[in-house]
Amino acid sequence: MTDACAENGLRSVEVAKQMLIDSINPITASETIPLSQACGRVLAEPVLSALDLPPCDNSAMDGYALSGDRDSYTIIGKSLAGHPFFGTLEPGQATRITTGAAVPTGADRVQMQENCNLDGDQLTMSRPAKPGENIRRRGEDVHTGQSLIPVGSKIKVPHIALLAGAGVAEVTVLRKLKAALLSIGDELKPIGTPASELGDGDIYDSNRIALQAALEQLDVDILDLGYWPDQPEKIREAFIKARDNADFVITSGGVSVGEADFTKTVLQELGEIGFWKLAIKPGKPFAFGRLPKADGEALFFGLPGNPVSAIVTLYQLVVPALEKLRGTSEQFRQLPLQVRARLLNDIRKRPGRTDYQRGFTYRDEDGIQVVETRGIQGSHILSGFAAANCFVVLPREGGDCETGDWVTVEPFSAPLM
Ligand code: AMP
Ligand code: MG
Repeated sequence: MTDACAENGLRSVEVAKQMLIDSINPITASETIPLSQACGRVLAEPVLSALDLPPCDNSAMDGYALSGDRDSYTIIGKSLAGHPFFGTLEPGQATRITTGAAVPTGADRVQMQENCNLDGDQLTMSRPAKPGENIRRRGEDVHTGQSLIPVGSKIKVPHIALLAGAGVAEVTVLRKLKAALLSIGDELKPIGTPASELGDGDIYDSNRIALQAALEQLDVDILDLGYWPDQPEKIREAFIKARDNADFVITSGGVSVGEADFTKTVLQELGEIGFWKLAIKPGKPFAFGRLPKADGEALFFGLPGNPVSAIVTLYQLVVPALEKLRGTSEQFRQLPLQVRARLLNDIRKRPGRTDYQRGFTYRDEDGIQVVETRGIQGSHILSGFAAANCFVVLPREGGDCETGDWVTVEPFSAPLM
């Protein structure tokens, strides 16, 4: 991908994302775990079905299994779920049958009970049943030996249902990623500190808790390394600890170009920087790098300190990178869902950066998808973010938008929802 819009020295979000993905090699180590613990993990080895699904022809309805095309039938028994009828139906014979029960040998259709009239053991119907009607065929879902889900799938609830339906009790998945998480800034105090004890200009270290919550939803093991001062030797110590104990490191703060921003220098000293400034708003200062170590390397994601920027860059850049790292194959890596929505307010925007404004989208009474931005669009404004359910994505080179314009909206998905 070429960086067509790099004239102001900033790399576009799309290019940065693609570069990240292209430069990351997925982990390969796997483990076998109970299916009950597999939701959210990435499948590492094929799972082949040991049986046909459904395992036998069975009824889609409560009613009567019929043999042949007749005006009336003689009922000779019943087939219930878990209690099949073992005999064979001759033409003109029927059995009672319940949903999911095996269709008896000789039966070729099932009539739903709402269409049936009974007189002793004689059955007549308000309408005839067609051959094959209401019969769910053996193997029509899955055949014996068939791959149940492709390697590289992120295992979700429907996958669990399918695997369990095939009797699979264990799966081999790629191992969990391990993150080291830390915050950088002299002004940070841990949450729980009474507000009265905050010094002038102190703030709570909110990023670390928010990023931890997000990473937990991505099924990552987290080493919480706490918060660190704006001192290069301390940051160096933190980065080494983080590097040695994790697959990737996530920091927030200290990443811009202020006199107390040491992330870049320490990262350069210990490893290498992938890129630095992005055409994204919020979140321009974003560092990607690598920290080599004895047994490989740890990836490094340096997020901006501003809380909205930190979460936006995590969502737009780090999450896709982690999907690659954790082994999710391309076809299962989800791009954020985008929809078009009509703006309910004006938006001021300068060309130059892709803007991810925080908004609330819904369908109005006429069924039209609409969106309004929420709160002041500052990278420190968390109240607006908390009141939002989507990003309003404004293209890099675009300018102001007006009420009634159609804009692109990304409804929040995991790990924001
Ligand atoms: P920096 O990236 O260090 O220049 O920080 C940019 C802004 O983000 C400053 O207002 C910081 O106080 C704020 N900030 C930095 N780290 C955190 C954090 N862990 N939690 C909340 N806000 C932060
Ligand atoms: Mg700082």
